[in-house]
Amino acid sequence: MTQLSEDCFAHGGALMPLDEALALIEKRVSPVSGIETIPLVSACGRILASDMIASNDVPPHANSAVDGYAVYYDDLSPGRDTVLPLIGRIAAGQPFHRPVRRGEALRIFTGAMMPVGEGDDAPDTVFMQEDCQLDGTRVTFPSGIDRGANRRLPGEDVTIGDMLLSGGRRLRAADLALMAAVGCTELVVRTRLRIALFSTGDEVREPGTMLAPGQIYDSNRVALRALLTSLGCMVSDLGILADDPKKTADAITKAARTHDLLISSGGVSVGEEDHVRDVVEGQGRIDIWRLAIKPGRPLILGTVRTDACPVPYLGLPGNPAAVIVTFLKFARPLILCLAGANEPPPRLYPVQAGFSHRKKKQRREYVRCVLSTDTNGGLVAKKAGRQGAGILSAVSSADGLVELPEDMQYLKCGSTVDFMPFNEVE
Ligand code: AMP
Ligand code: MG
Repeated sequence: MTQLSEDCFAHGGALMPLDEALALIEKRVSPVSGIETIPLVSACGRILASDMIASNDVPPHANSAVDGYAVYYDDLSPGRDTVLPLIGRIAAGQPFHRPVRRGEALRIFTGAMMPVGEGDDAPDTVFMQEDCQLDGTRVTFPSGIDRGANRRLPGEDVTIGDMLLSGGRRLRAADLALMAAVGCTELVVRTRLRIALFSTGDEVREPGTMLAPGQIYDSNRVALRALLTSLGCMVSDLGILADDPKKTADAITKAARTHDLLISSGGVSVGEEDHVRDVVEGQGRIDIWRLAIKPGRPLILGTVRTDACPVPYLGLPGNPAAVIVTFLKFARPLILCLAGANEPPPRLYPVQAGFSHRKKKQRREYVRCVLSTDTNGGLVAKKAGRQGAGILSAVSSADGLVELPEDMQYLKCGSTVDFMPFNEVE
């Protein structure tokens, strides 16, 4: 386990370009998670702690890829049909009881082990049953098949010693299948990050309660909790903090003792009731304050002191659309780094902009968009709805984000833009 230093995110500037903030994370953040051994069946979504090398061949033996007949290729007559006697059958998991002699044919089923032959030679070719004619105990084979047809070789999928998965990989279903195929039952993975999650604001109330004038329901926490859980984090839901510096400070101090990362939304802007920033600064330091992106400008990344090592603090914006955008573009890579995951940034796909747009220079904008298909089959991104930082409905109906770079001032309808689908990052 690597501990963070208090100045791990240190930076001098004011409004930080997103790429600079992400480079800082990549350079300065090391994993804080421990390691544990867990059953393979529970490892989906977990992060592999070290490289996995194949301890077995897959498949372990040559076997048939089809239902049909196994023969020696050299028994086939070139250019005309061959008739051979059928001497038995081999089902999957039931190897044939004796070596097969030249001139013999065997019924064989998919996955069944290719029979052993005489000396170094063995049946090496399998005909599909639909290509053959069975007449009592004799089978007629057509000409034209290749040697080794429909036979899977030992180790053709995985060979002993192959590097199967590298440390830092977030495990998917197919990865678990691969590990099961070499006989593995347990994996050494990173422990889940323990995350303390708060909302902030005197106006913010728990859904299910009555709203008094001026109050709103907390929508950020449920979204963040879902996003964090899908990243494999263990989330302590610590509720809503009042806009009160003392209460905020106490809650942060307490949570920092038992968590790997603290995350809140709201209270990080420049209003008099935005206390999170000052409290974090008072208990540690702030290294990033305000990203040059829209939505999502008010954001802090810092650390708070504890008796042990400093604990990172991520203060996300309060506005719900900004919360989701900053989570996906900034918090997510930070969390993956802290958790010990090693994966490339989400892929951006070129699509056609179905809208024109004017923007400020020097900040990156994320437009919530829906995708449709034009008459040529090309993908077109259109604005999902109103784009305000507080407009949640547009995020919900969007398929993803169109990313407009810092140096762009005007986007012409029809030009190519980068698109990040939500379903690759949620
Ligand atoms: P703040 O940065 O605290 O001033 O919050 C910015 C905006 O986001 C305000 O309109 C808040 O009411 C709103 N907001 C803050 N926290 C939440 C939350 N948890 N759920 C929904 N809206 C919120
Ligand atoms: Mg607030």
